[in-house]
Amino acid sequence: MGSMHTGLEEEKNGFEKLAAFYAERARGGVGLIVTGGIAPDIFGRLTPFASKLTSQSEVEKHKLITNAVHIADGKICLQILHAGRYAYHPFSLAPSRIKAPIAPFTPWAMPSFYVEKTIQHFVRAAKLAQQAGYDGVEVMGSEGYLINQFLVTRTNKRNDKWGGSFGNRMLFPVEIVRRIREAVGENFIIIYRLSMLDIVDDGQTWNEIETLAKAIENAGASIINTGIGWHEARVPTIAQMVPRAGFAWVTKRLMGKVNIPLITTNRINSPEVAEQVLQEGCADMISMARPFLADPNFMLKAKENRSDEINTCIACNQACLDHIFNRKVASCMVNPFACRETEWKITPLSSGEGMRPKNIAVVGGGPAGLSAAVTAAQRGHRVTLFEARNEMGGQLNMARVVSGKEEFNETLRYFNRQLELNNVDVKLNTRFEIAMAKDFDDVIVSSGVLPRELSMEGSDLPHVFNYADVLRDKKQVGKRVAIIGAGGIGIDTAMFLLKGSNPESSHDFNEKWNLDETYLMRGGVRIEEPLSTREGLGVRQIFLLQRKKGKPGAALGKTTAWIHREELKKYGVKYLDGVEYEKISEQGLHISRNGQSHLLAVDNVIICAGQVSERSLYDELKARGISAHLIGGAKEAGELDAKRAIEEGTRVGMVV
Ligand code: NAP
Ligand code: SF4
Repeated sequence: MGSMHTGLEEEKNGFEKLAAFYAERARGGVGLIVTGGIAPDIFGRLTPFASKLTSQSEVEKHKLITNAVHIADGKICLQILHAGRYAYHPFSLAPSRIKAPIAPFTPWAMPSFYVEKTIQHFVRAAKLAQQAGYDGVEVMGSEGYLINQFLVTRTNKRNDKWGGSFGNRMLFPVEIVRRIREAVGENFIIIYRLSMLDIVDDGQTWNEIETLAKAIENAGASIINTGIGWHEARVPTIAQMVPRAGFAWVTKRLMGKVNIPLITTNRINSPEVAEQVLQEGCADMISMARPFLADPNFMLKAKENRSDEINTCIACNQACLDHIFNRKVASCMVNPFACRETEWKITPLSSGEGMRPKNIAVVGGGPAGLSAAVTAAQRGHRVTLFEARNEMGGQLNMARVVSGKEEFNETLRYFNRQLELNNVDVKLNTRFEIAMAKDFDDVIVSSGVLPRELSMEGSDLPHVFNYADVLRDKKQVGKRVAIIGAGGIGIDTAMFLLKGSNPESSHDFNEKWNLDETYLMRGGVRIEEPLSTREGLGVRQIFLLQRKKGKPGAALGKTTAWIHREELKKYGVKYLDGVEYEKISEQGLHISRNGQSHLLAVDNVIICAGQVSERSLYDELKARGISAHLIGGAKEAGELDAKRAIEEGTRVGMVV
């Protein structure tokens, strides 16, 4: 299980919670866990109060983690991470005084003596980790953090023995590993996370990477793990649109060049994909991180051939990385229990006095209804799930058809299997009528949302659609299109019209993002060429519009919104903000902008202007005094996403 910062590291009683979090994954069959990054000194902390391991007094709380994992028969390594110039505090240190594009502060250049000191701090952290009972450490040498910054001239302009030739620049990591090995003895794992594809200008060459890998092996590392892309790289490396195992080809290049095991990472989220990567000789070991947030029992289910029961990480980042960037404790969109192991529990009815199984109706099979039905049934209630359409999924059915979002199919597969396993009585094509309520003790209304309709002149013309017409009902759309609304669904609709539904191949992904598979270029990245000029792409001209000023998809998560915007640019989508809509005519969409009227001559206008709640059933139940709960989009359509829907469904299922 790869390193993930959860935010519990800095919480009150966070280490007790972390111990429960890691122990659950160890019980679930994970072979080797790597903790979130812990700084070796105060300068290396990512944020001012981030966790560090610098003294004996901090060892005790780490023992909570190692004991819990060992009791659960697991093994765990502590990741030592020095943020370098990525630190969010004014005392950041780096090889040279060059600001990172993604950090607020310009770092101080480390004096030579302090480079030595920092190496000692890495060694101290490793020894303290050993005392705390860890089975090893991972030295974080990738993702653009301090060690990576030493390795390339982009960030290392030093003229002492730590800069200049590659031999000098790689001395820092090599000395760290060599001296850690000297200090901890033979029987302690040292994983080195090696940046195998920097994806930045003036990054490492392949020769340099191979040279470093060999030197790290000679210095005493036990295992080399793969790091892909600096955080400042403008290429997605773990988001949903990255093809599964999309970077295994990089690790494969290093196979056979060193004699210690190689781990590959990034977008491996199912046992089948992991197995295929191993079969194809891309690596000796697999690391997954987010998939264990999504399902702590991933490995057990894989071992028992129950992979159809795995709750699959869909790489949305919405509850894990986006939470961390917003200074919130991480969790998981598809598994809201993650990182709440000590607080959230499914209490079976059999365990509580006075609790009895009820007959519960859940109305609406979107993410809120699905999670409510499954959670309530897991507790022992008799649950009937009503869905008016012929398939479960609600809004997920619109998201899953967009190329790059096909992982939502896994969420539906998971929920459908859980409905089966928990004997939920599923009624498809069945509209719940008020009269049916008499057969139930409780009704959970998760009737979802409807697309917002606009009352502008011409909005009833036949060439005007809403997003459901396009994404779900597959209405034919012409070559020139105006999309009203530049939120998540407006962008999804644009991408569907440009990319279709098929997942991108690894090769197409690399082409689109200018990744150099031949690795002739430093950093593995080619000079950019606009996609819309490449043959076969940009087959539609799309205008994406909104009334407010600002970027499209401004409310989307920090870790993915920029990718959507880059993609829109790559496909030549014309984005217009500050727009006023005048009317729609046979000729197209009439707008004004900056006081001037324009006609966008388009074949279709597609309305993606948000949603309204569909809550009439709930209001009627309440009016008749029938016990009912309202959740998901039916309760509040604004800023609804699957994360909130699943969380609300799970919460109501836990208490109903
Ligand atoms: P949204 O993000 O709220 O965007 C609605 C868009 O419609 C905005 O651009 C808004 O801009 C416009 N709009 C609102 N009222 C309008 C009106 N009366 N007339 C014309 N334009 C109007 O909603 P959404 O795109 O429907 O998405 C729904 C939810 O799902 C959101 O919470 C979204 O974040 C989430 N989602 C997330 C993803 C993802 O990839 N993470 C993907 C899809 C959806 P103006 O009001 O300025 O014109
Ligand atoms: Fe995966 Fe999304 Fe859960 Fe993060 S929030 S672990 S990306 S499913």
